[in-house]
Amino acid sequence: MKGEKKEEEFVKVCPKCSSLDLKADLTMAFLGETSTLTCNGCGYTNTFFPEVEVGKVKDFMKR
Ligand SMILES: [Zn+2]
Repeated sequence: MKGEKKEEEFVKVCPKCSSLDLKADLTMAFLGETSTLTCNGCGYTNTFFPEVEVGKVKDFMKR
């Protein structure tokens, strides 16, 4: 009895517009800082974006 459980994948979503279209800014990572993410949908930038299970993205967007 092992290995039957599916691993859920997580995606980062924009808390402002629920877009999944995010891009990582690696400039800061290069400098040894926490890398920031920018939303291509609304321009929101933060070092932390909420992660949602792939299967629950649609639920997240309904709100
Ligand atoms: Zn956004």
